[in-house]
Amino acid sequence: MELSALAGNERLKEQLSRQERGRGLSHAYIISGPAGSGKHTMALLLAAAMLCTGRGERPCGTCGPCLKVLRGIHPDVSAISGPETGKPIAVDQVRALRADAYIRPNEGERKIYILKEADRMNPSAQNAMLKLLEEGPPYAVFLLIAGNAGGLLQTVRSRCEELALSPPPELVSGETDRERLALVKKLAVALEGAEELELLETAMSVLDVKRSREELTALLDLLEEELGTRVVKSVGRRRLLRAAELVKRLRGAAGLNVNGGQLSGWLCAEMFDAL
Ligand SMILES: [Zn+2]
Repeated sequence: MELSALAGNERLKEQLSRQERGRGLSHAYIISGPAGSGKHTMALLLAAAMLCTGRGERPCGTCGPCLKVLRGIHPDVSAISGPETGKPIAVDQVRALRADAYIRPNEGERKIYILKEADRMNPSAQNAMLKLLEEGPPYAVFLLIAGNAGGLLQTVRSRCEELALSPPPELVSGETDRERLALVKKLAVALEGAEELELLETAMSVLDVKRSREELTALLDLLEEELGTRVVKSVGRRRLLRAAELVKRLRGAAGLNVNGGQLSGWLCAEMFDAL
């Protein structure tokens, strides 16, 4: 499998690749790990791998289904979160999901449900989920995202395979100016010419790192400057101008409570939407 967009976790990636080559990917995973460990990235990569129509390692990141999954617009992939911000997924939502699961997929061979903060569901929601795991249609796949897998009922856990992600890389406060400039240059090069998955990978490696708001803003300022310098001497001007405009908007968003993973995803989606 091609899982390099997810940082670290080498053993887990190797294990999944072996599984894919062997008996194939499972229909239910619990993706657990602390904040910032890449649970959502892992869910997207798994979903893309299951729907990818490219040849070679999956997800290829460039076929139609892969691009739709990575941009969050594939009709057979649904991400479910609580009815309101801060609320867990409710039992009614799981029942609705059950009804939906019995409608065959639109485009792909599988229908994939990503359940956010699944460990916060109450016991009745979890029991409804359990039924679905036991009796759901064969094409349905459930990816349960959990900060703490211990919050899930043992019966639910026993029906899923668990992918426990390692904590994110250490705090990078104390990044030197030189290191920061190197990161910025790396991302500018990717923004100028990389393909989508490669850009996502680079953006994650640069942006999905714990930094203070000030550090992140400083980094984005540097990036904007770097893109400006490159525009003058580049042939890929259109992309660079687009990138510079996006980074300016990103800098505004960086003040909000948006994490680096989300910023990276947004940057890539917007970048390729316009091209
Ligand atoms: Zn693909």
